[in-house]
Amino acid sequence: MTQEFTKELKPAYTVMTVMEEAARCLLCHDAPCSAACPAHTDPARFIRSVRFRNFKGAAETVRKNNALGAVCARVCPTERYCAEACSRCGIDKPIDISGIQRFVTDFEDKVGMKILEKGEDNGKKVAIIGSGPGGIQAAADLLKLGYAVDVYEKDELPGGLLRKAIPEYRLPNAVVASEIAKVQAIGANLILGCEVGKDITMDELKEKYDAVLVDVGIGEPQILDMFEGNEYAVPSVTFLKELSDKQGDVELPDNAVVIGGGDSAMDASASLKILGVQNVTNFTRKELVDFRASKEELEIARAMGVTIMDGYAPVAVDGKTVTFRHRKLNSEVKIEADLIVLAVGQGTKAGELGIDMVKNEVAADGCYLGDNVFAAGDLVKGDKTVVYAVKKGKEAAAAIDAYLGGK
Ligand SMILES: Cc1cc2nc3c(=O)[nH]c(=O)nc-3n(C[C@H](O)[C@H](O)[C@H](O)COP(=O)(O)OP(=O)(O)OC[C@H]3O[C@@H](n4cnc5c(N)ncnc54)[C@H](O)[C@@H]3O)c2cc1C
Ligand code: SF4
Repeated sequence: MTQEFTKELKPAYTVMTVMEEAARCLLCHDAPCSAACPAHTDPARFIRSVRFRNFKGAAETVRKNNALGAVCARVCPTERYCAEACSRCGIDKPIDISGIQRFVTDFEDKVGMKILEKGEDNGKKVAIIGSGPGGIQAAADLLKLGYAVDVYEKDELPGGLLRKAIPEYRLPNAVVASEIAKVQAIGANLILGCEVGKDITMDELKEKYDAVLVDVGIGEPQILDMFEGNEYAVPSVTFLKELSDKQGDVELPDNAVVIGGGDSAMDASASLKILGVQNVTNFTRKELVDFRASKEELEIARAMGVTIMDGYAPVAVDGKTVTFRHRKLNSEVKIEADLIVLAVGQGTKAGELGIDMVKNEVAADGCYLGDNVFAAGDLVKGDKTVVYAVKKGKEAAAAIDAYLGGK
């Protein structure tokens, strides 16, 4: 195990520092931070509880609303949501809402709170395909409503991209496991190592369950045509999964090139640096101002010493030598690398389950797909972030409940 890789990079608040940060909150009426959370978390409410040292109350506010509260506290790009809306921006800087949320959910675990409760059994059962955040949130909500829930996951471990893609220095696997354990504790039945479409068919699930929720995500590795068959090239999600499985204990190159400008690219680049690779160069078609990766991820990669070449796209490859050309400038760069990580987007195999797809999203407008089938997570239109997956998991659970005659 490589310790730097598994150690959380961002320090946690102590009781004293969290009280200081909470004291900066203006306790706004009709708080804009709360209105800006896609998953309807209520920062104004839990920060007010923290101000009064009511950490238990704060933990209840977070957990009752969001089964992935500790995960979101670590990876949510808050600069696009609650922090952007925070009234304190107009004075100095936004409240560190996610940092306070992390303190609160860590507290919940430390004192062993059991907040989620299963509803009275209603005799109906739902199958969820995929154990990513959308699937886990939907499972929690359906269990609260009294449904029996089986979660089918093709991997041997649950958590989706949270576990296999987001590196441990940002999101420890133990945090993901603890969130899922809370949902298992109220009855979620995880069926691991079972791929729907191979080990069991969609038709069998539709027959056996009152409703089926498809949350298979868009995490399938993709590669650019010019790198097909190149022994030095690997898709970023494949590379990050290997790092996660082996806790960073992998064979390392001297020089690495990472292609792409999103979360995946930043995670692969920063991971390589943390593990000690000397030269890591990131090439991306987008210019820095249009970067898709979150501000925090970009900052981590830069702080680690990743060289970022923005505005460059690959135009040719010969073994380990890649040629990049700038999109606007008359500039070409040739670089040699022992490892070429391709973070150029991912795909989905949802179509193979008979789901009508348009590119990587379900064709349906919303989560209902016809018959007794629903969708959640990245497959549904909307942002491709954890908090949005949580939102869509909640919406799908509510739609299933309405379809099956609930409230
Ligand atoms: C490298 C990387 C970094 C990211 N960083 C961030 C970040 O910092 N912040 C953020 O908000 N978002 C981030 N994201 C995006 C975020 O991870 C996704 O938006 C989120 O995980 C999508 O959740 P989901 O519910 O759609 O399921 P996913 O997490 O995609 O999981 C789907 C699950 O379904 C399983 N599955 C697939 N097919 C089948 C089948 N046929 N049968 C059974 N199981 C199946 C898969 O094995 C997987 O476990 C990142 C993504 C990547 C790739
Ligand atoms: S908007 Fe900012 S200052 Fe106002 S309640 Fe929310 S966190 Fe506090």
